[in-house]
Amino acid sequence: MPVLVMKFGGTSVANLDRIRRAAKRVGVEVAKGYDVIVIVSAMSGKTNELVGWVNETSPLYDAREYDAVVSSGENVTAGLMALTLQEMDVPARSWQGWQVPVKTTAAHSAARIEEIPSENINAKFAQGMKVAVVAGFQGLSPEGRITTLGRGGSDTTAVAFAAAFDAERCDIYTDVDGVYTTDPRIASKARKLDKIAFEEMLELASLGAKVLQTRSVELAMRYNVKLRVLSSFEEQSDDAGTLVCAEEEIMESNVVSGIAYSRDEAKMTLISVADRPGIAAAIFGPLSEAGVNVDMIIQNIAEEGRTDMTFSCPTDQVARAEKALQDAQDRGEINYHDLVADTDVAKVSAVGIGMRSQSGVAALMFKTLSNEGVNIKVIATSEIKISVLIDRKYMELAVQALHDAFELHKAA
Ligand code: ADP
Ligand code: ASP
Ligand code: MG
Repeated sequence: MPVLVMKFGGTSVANLDRIRRAAKRVGVEVAKGYDVIVIVSAMSGKTNELVGWVNETSPLYDAREYDAVVSSGENVTAGLMALTLQEMDVPARSWQGWQVPVKTTAAHSAARIEEIPSENINAKFAQGMKVAVVAGFQGLSPEGRITTLGRGGSDTTAVAFAAAFDAERCDIYTDVDGVYTTDPRIASKARKLDKIAFEEMLELASLGAKVLQTRSVELAMRYNVKLRVLSSFEEQSDDAGTLVCAEEEIMESNVVSGIAYSRDEAKMTLISVADRPGIAAAIFGPLSEAGVNVDMIIQNIAEEGRTDMTFSCPTDQVARAEKALQDAQDRGEINYHDLVADTDVAKVSAVGIGMRSQSGVAALMFKTLSNEGVNIKVIATSEIKISVLIDRKYMELAVQALHDAFELHKAA
């Protein structure tokens, strides 16, 4: 039988009614003759609640126990989805990550999937089971402990299963009907894209567009998985939603294809650091060991042997970063006067493959922000993206203004 992977995100399984509605969609595909692997997220809000409990209990938590707690939301929905399908007379069984097993690295809270053996599930399909419901977001470390794949990780579970089972397609059912030029909840003029290139989706995702987890796009690109994003709230035709595909499959696209934002950024500045060869390694080594994901970096020109070093990282890693730098200072590895954290910033980015061949995108971006009176604090560029760090209160304004300036409401 051909295999189809269907993933339902948090809002799509938010209560028993929605689980029933999702199960009906699964039933439609089973009736077409597919063996279906359903990947479920936790009910919406559940993972945030679990994360909150962990933080309240232990601010600098042991990541193994974080994973033990936050992975649990998916277990509930997997069992409920299997029961719902059984009630509809669809033979179904649930699996938690460790039962498959979804083998991952030991990088707790940000583990990567290494292997998904297909024997267990295939044996059940061979016996007449039609749907395997798998708890997303979770796996098993080499030490035999539960891991999680980072926030939004059920998308990655879904794509990894699609690759492992050679699925015909991986459908990501969510609360919007596809990938838009920007978050439709922020810009009413956002336009749904019929297709988006892997590279662009990868950048948008890594810059904050949470509709797909970055790693899921990476895997889809590597294993050439046919990946589609669509709404779980509407009746769906076979070409509904957005197809994430190779660049060659897209005839025309705008120079800038999307605007992404990330709300939870912090800007940290080490003031007056003693400048010497190796100082960057002495600062960023300990940060990396502490699990801080440093994004943008600027080092000012040194004066009299001292300099300021600024970097950005997710807001929830500020405490970790402060501790790592203070410890390095105490060990005498670095020497700074002060550490200032600005937690009221956001990152806004323009993404487009067209930037490779067209100049002027950065200029238009900076002019647009300047017209709106938005001050740019840090800039970072790569071949197909430009990102700026700005005050968080201007984030939505900046997204809308850039969406207008690049005329993203119009198709190419
Ligand atoms: P799920 O719970 O189904 O995994 P998520 O909340 O993780 O859903 O992702 C879907 C959300 O992503 C949408 O509700 C939307 O607000 C947001 N989003 C951000 N950028 C985009 C974009 N470019 N296109 C579509 N949705 C986007
Ligand atoms: N429940 C997890 C989260 O909220 C994983 C997911 O939904 O993809 O991050
Ligand atoms: Mg998600």
